[in-house]
Amino acid sequence: MNKDQIQAFEGRISRADRILIISHIRPDGDAVGSLIGLGLILEELGKEVNLVLEDGVPRVFHHLTGFEKVIREAVGIYDLVIVVDCSDIDRIGSVLDEYGEPDVNIDHHPTNTQFAQLNMVRDNAVATVEIIYDLVQALSLPVTLPIAEALLTGLLTDSLGFRTSNSSPRTLRIAAELQEMGANLQVLYRKAMLEKSLEAVKYWGQGLSRIQMENRLVWTSLNLEDRKAADYPGRDDADLINVLSRIRETDICLVLIEQTNGSVKVSWRAQPGFDVSKVATHFGGGGHKPAAGAEIRGDLARVQEEVLEETRKALSGTE
Ligand code: 5GP
Ligand code: MN
Repeated sequence: MNKDQIQAFEGRISRADRILIISHIRPDGDAVGSLIGLGLILEELGKEVNLVLEDGVPRVFHHLTGFEKVIREAVGIYDLVIVVDCSDIDRIGSVLDEYGEPDVNIDHHPTNTQFAQLNMVRDNAVATVEIIYDLVQALSLPVTLPIAEALLTGLLTDSLGFRTSNSSPRTLRIAAELQEMGANLQVLYRKAMLEKSLEAVKYWGQGLSRIQMENRLVWTSLNLEDRKAADYPGRDDADLINVLSRIRETDICLVLIEQTNGSVKVSWRAQPGFDVSKVATHFGGGGHKPAAGAEIRGDLARVQEEVLEETRKALSGTE
């Protein structure tokens, strides 16, 4: 992100009154944190802001002030449309179907397709909130306590609690500054990263009971019956992938989650030295070398077979 881009961003903000901000389907902490964080900043500047997530805010983020402002559809006409934490336009869902090309895209995915007029993409940022914090510093934007909490949540969740290899001294400095503004790191960590509902843990149980391993590849699946049996309300994996990635004997792991619309969501995680973003991109998804995902049309058994075949190539370095 260079000075011209920051200036262009400032210009677009100052000319707009009614602003729409959106992020991706199956939102994670960085999607929610960057959406609410930037939204509240722009409200502080006197803008009328609509925050839209097609899937709404997951329950684990309902402690964040501002979550109640998030709606599921865009309404009316906007002077400016900003997309945060989205590598490609399909990840937004159908929110923008009648709005055309977005104005601004703020993101940190190496697989970003530069789909907006102004693309503020920094792929060495640990999270999109880190780029929003770049803007806060460059433009002296206001940061209230709820803004600090939203931004720190995105930083914590995308860095898996400062554990990912792209967590940098700058990441920790930003976290420290947000703490100094009053954000409670320990509470935010527990709420966003540790606490799970009973249903989510039961859902893990379904997946864990079927776990499979071949060489240094570990995988499991969650089908619609598992979801029903556990009474789990989400269409994600309740973070089961982060349990699998803790298995010592694995280099790459993946979870396949059957969806109600005839597709399968796949999440991959890889140890340093392996790149799962290429496999995800092969299937129309994206992400980062150590963590990537895709939504693939087809039934669970067939998708599983194809995904395992491609992933084996990533494991042996022959893709
Ligand atoms: P997760 O597997 O936890 O959903 O996501 C891991 C990483 O891959 C995140 O950076 C996420 O943004 C990205 N990702 C997950 N699913 C998709 C997808 O369907 N398309 C794209 N482009 N990226 C995805
Ligand atoms: Mn992110």
